[in-house]
Amino acid sequence: ERVFNVRVESLNKGGPGGAAALMLFVDLSSIRRAEQMRVDFVANVSHELRTPLATLLGFIETLQGPARDDAEARDRFLDIMKAQGNRMSRLVQDLLSLSRIETNEHRPPSDRVALGPLLEGVKATLDLEARRKDMAVRLDADPALPAVIGAEDELAQVAQNLLDNAIKYGRPGTEITVSARPADRLPASFPGGPGAAAVAISVRDRGDGIPAEHIPRLTERFYRVDTARSRELGGTGLGLAIVKHIVSRHRGALAIQSTPGEGSVFTVYIPAAGAESWPSGATAA
Ligand code: ADP
Repeated sequence: ERVFNVRVESLNKGGPGGAAALMLFVDLSSIRRAEQMRVDFVANVSHELRTPLATLLGFIETLQGPARDDAEARDRFLDIMKAQGNRMSRLVQDLLSLSRIETNEHRPPSDRVALGPLLEGVKATLDLEARRKDMAVRLDADPALPAVIGAEDELAQVAQNLLDNAIKYGRPGTEITVSARPADRLPASFPGGPGAAAVAISVRDRGDGIPAEHIPRLTERFYRVDTARSRELGGTGLGLAIVKHIVSRHRGALAIQSTPGEGSVFTVYIPAAGAESWPSGATAA
């Protein structure tokens, strides 16, 4: 449904050439849609903060009252309170990241970034978390990988969010593969066109997988396939929204493939640096 605001303005009031008028059509539907998204976002943020805050306050009251002298309950409650505090802190951190990226969305980053060491670093950060779930992370980076054009901290955040999800939603005892290679085929959504030189970073897990109907909406803020499960695993519902914004700021693309019950592959395409060392139109076998 499209809504237009029509304005008619007279240009010359009956001059020698006769009367002329200018008709302006202003498309209001996109403005309304943006406004609705903003309202929904604020409502979502409030809701996400209210729940852990209510839990925290509830436990504080219990500790001040009925459980005042119960040492065993106190330890248990403090653990829960700490988890809720951490959840709020993660949410605020993700909101700040999102707003920082959005502010710079139309200014593409321009550093040369080597992905090999970057991915090693991200793997090192999350290795312990993976081991806790009896999972192994395998890094498979092409040694001849060209550098990409981007912002190092943001690309690390992309890899970290994807790997974090693979650990959260992967099955215990399985292996996660993080790979980086020259992209041989680019998705239609890649802004540089089909012949551009790009690097594909993909994270593959063996886990829940995602039913096809959810895939197009996964990068919306706070969209989750299973809200209770995401919360229980410490998710904020913002990880993929952040990924999408960073990728779009890098003039790249994100592709999601998933088979329910088997697992998912999230692939990010980022423009390669130095066309001289990686001619555009080149394809890798
Ligand atoms: P969350 O903090 O909830 O993980 P994200 O934005 O990172 O938020 O992801 C949104 C939703 O997409 C998740 O709640 C989950 O339902 C789904 N999802 C993301 N990554 C995976 C994955 N690797 N396997 C299965 N489902 C996933």
